[in-house]
Amino acid sequence: MNKRQRERYRKQLLAKREELLQLVQAARKSEKEGTFKQTPDLGDRALSTVIRDLSYQLTVTERDILRRVDDALDRIENNEYGMCVACGKKVQTGRLDAVPWALHCIECQELQDRGEI
Ligand SMILES: [Zn+2]
Repeated sequence: MNKRQRERYRKQLLAKREELLQLVQAARKSEKEGTFKQTPDLGDRALSTVIRDLSYQLTVTERDILRRVDDALDRIENNEYGMCVACGKKVQTGRLDAVPWALHCIECQELQDRGEI
């Protein structure tokens, strides 16, 4: 991978990181507001639990991706970016375009999805 490509992915990752941070912060804020809001009847209370669970789910997923984005940025710094962590081959450019924080090449990702690695 050349310097220009790396720089392009770095920009994409930084933009994604910014987006995720905002989502996580927004979810955290709504969690906080949800805790202090009094819900008088059971229907509302049940609903607010559902909303809280959803925002929790969201932040877990977003935080997970955020961690991967940070990892990918580290790997760019260490010149390891774009190499599959399982087999050491290059991760396909098309895959990195779709998922810039991908750790595995397509083949290894399929194996991992099937629980084989
Ligand atoms: Zn691989």
